[in-house]
Amino acid sequence: MNIDFNKNGNGLVPAIIQDALTKNVLMLGYMNEEAYTKTVDSNKVTFFSRTKNRLWTKGEESGHFLNVVSIKNDCDNDTLLIEVNPVGPTCHKGTDTCWGETNNQSFGFLSELEKVIQSRREAADSEKSYVASLFKKGINKIAQKVGEEAVEIVIEAKDNNDDLFLNEGADLLFHYLILLQAKGFALKDVVDVLEGRH
Ligand code: AMP
Ligand code: ZN
Ligand code: ZN
Ligand code: ZN
Repeated sequence: MNIDFNKNGNGLVPAIIQDALTKNVLMLGYMNEEAYTKTVDSNKVTFFSRTKNRLWTKGEESGHFLNVVSIKNDCDNDTLLIEVNPVGPTCHKGTDTCWGETNNQSFGFLSELEKVIQSRREAADSEKSYVASLFKKGINKIAQKVGEEAVEIVIEAKDNNDDLFLNEGADLLFHYLILLQAKGFALKDVVDVLEGRH
């Protein structure tokens, strides 16, 4: 890889460390050419530590290594993006990321929707909320609703109305998210099962 180690005048390039699965940024460190070579050879992220003034394999004391999945050079060859599988929390302060975050997998808007459903369930003024009213009716009623939406998508799959087909899919997914929460699960639990089969 053609990395421009001399751009900053100190032989170092920043390396952004990203979790290969969750895509969260875990930390940022600096590499010189030797650190980069050691990283590639050992498959464990190794920086040049400016405070230690030596090569530093992340995890050398803690055991919280960063196992390399892929390394990418940026558009002008002066910044690395390294995807890893982390062993344990990445920050020496004990958190998953160096910004104090938990390294949870996010499913974009579906995760936002899960949070909204959760908050409706807990909301005090739940009289007005359709989601809250479903939770009140209980698991059987919610499961029945999922069944109805599934039947509706079967019907729409046979027709040629794309709009209705997609809308029934949205209904099904939405009610399934509610059913998952009613049963004490989250979308992640189902994705884990899918990944386990992969
Ligand atoms: P480790 O590389 O995990 O064995 O940690 C060794 C030492 O490196 C720690 O005691 C910290 O001083 C430092 N250190 C570890 N992880 C980080 C990090 N994510 N950011 C900055 N310093 C770190
Ligand atoms: Zn750049
Ligand atoms: Zn940190
Ligand atoms: Zn529907």
